[in-house]
Amino acid sequence: MTENGVDQDRMMCRACGNEERASEGYPCADCGTFLCLLCTFKGVTMCAACQAKQKGTAAKT
Ligand SMILES: [Zn+2]
Ligand SMILES: [Zn+2]
Repeated sequence: MTENGVDQDRMMCRACGNEERASEGYPCADCGTFLCLLCTFKGVTMCAACQAKQKGTAAKT
């Protein structure tokens, strides 16, 4: 049985907070932290922190 290998493969998505398998996610385009596959499908390429960071700089016009 290899059931004990399941938990350590899970990571928390830094965009939506979901726990997903690390092998099924993508890195944030800016900082490289883990994003889940669902967020990637939705067009989210950056984690919450980087999105907020970008919003802050974009609003500075
Ligand atoms: Zn997500
Ligand atoms: Zn990021």
